[in-house]
Amino acid sequence: MTALLHVDGLVKHFPIRKGMFGRAAGAVRAVDGVSFDVAVGETLALVGESGCGKSTTGRLVLRLLEPTSGKVFFDGEDLLALGDDEMRRRRRAIQVIFQDPFASLNPRMTVAQAITEALALHGLAEGRRRERVGEILSLVGLSPEHGRRYPHEFSGGQRQRIGIARALAVEPRIVVCDEPVSALDVSIQAQVVNLLRDLQKRFGLSYIFIAHDLAVVKFIATRIAVMYLGRIVEYADKRALFDEPRHPYTQALLASIPIPQPAVKRRRILLEGDVPSPSNPPSGCRFRTRCPYARPRCAEETPALQPDASGHAVACHFWPELVPREPILPGTAAIPRNPRLEALQAAFRHASG
Ligand code: SF4
Repeated sequence: MTALLHVDGLVKHFPIRKGMFGRAAGAVRAVDGVSFDVAVGETLALVGESGCGKSTTGRLVLRLLEPTSGKVFFDGEDLLALGDDEMRRRRRAIQVIFQDPFASLNPRMTVAQAITEALALHGLAEGRRRERVGEILSLVGLSPEHGRRYPHEFSGGQRQRIGIARALAVEPRIVVCDEPVSALDVSIQAQVVNLLRDLQKRFGLSYIFIAHDLAVVKFIATRIAVMYLGRIVEYADKRALFDEPRHPYTQALLASIPIPQPAVKRRRILLEGDVPSPSNPPSGCRFRTRCPYARPRCAEETPALQPDASGHAVACHFWPELVPREPILPGTAAIPRNPRLEALQAAFRHASG
């Protein structure tokens, strides 16, 4: 599998400055040594609680933030070595869809103007921009007539379609989708995720899909990287991660998807306490202050992210003895299903049909 995007040892520390002279007094370690690949046509999901560094990672890939260290290669080219002008040209290939499309759209511009602006920025479709705007709106399930309206005249789901249209207008190869469905109702989430999957198939797009919701990630991810306090703690194909979650944090995220039936006996892994401050992370394993299986070694030694022969990687000293014997997320008829997942699945079938 050839990597379209290769991220190697990415680090972003935000300095904390104090006093009137701005003296450095530590750093917020938002991203601390993150590596992954994204192949052509696949979706890598970055999953974790808020503050785990997933959105910062997305912004570093886009070079909306400059990393403290690390490498980002796109199609074999070192993006961090590019000057501003060269990077502006490459940006066409690496687009973004934000959680709140309303905030990223100029309220004084019509939808057509917003898309035309994106085309003009990259010198595209000169002489036929009006037709191109109509084509791209149709592609995302809107009509060319919608181009004459302003962002406030649309629903949340329609606005996200506009955000997708604006990103896709310039024909990118990879799109960073930063929590694109988190603010939407379940049925609308399904429509937007289905649209993203359809567009991916049609144009061979790659996605980095950032989310805290494993239920949504299940429908779009090819591979999943689970992040905690700036680091990847587990990295695997979607199926492997759902079937055999190895890290206690991944197990806790899966277990947090609610099943209301009290008759179902289910292994609960409770996440107690808050995520520690990234300016002062725990020694050794960063998850140890919330891990129910922590032992003295966990405070002394940082577990490395170790892949097995299949590529399933986990950063935990004791994972072989912690893998649950029963599935955490019910997936068989013998165990009652998660109604939220079922609602999503029904909505997906409806939207696909
Ligand atoms: Fe828990 Fe220790 Fe594994 Fe960290 S290394 S996840 S603290 S058991």
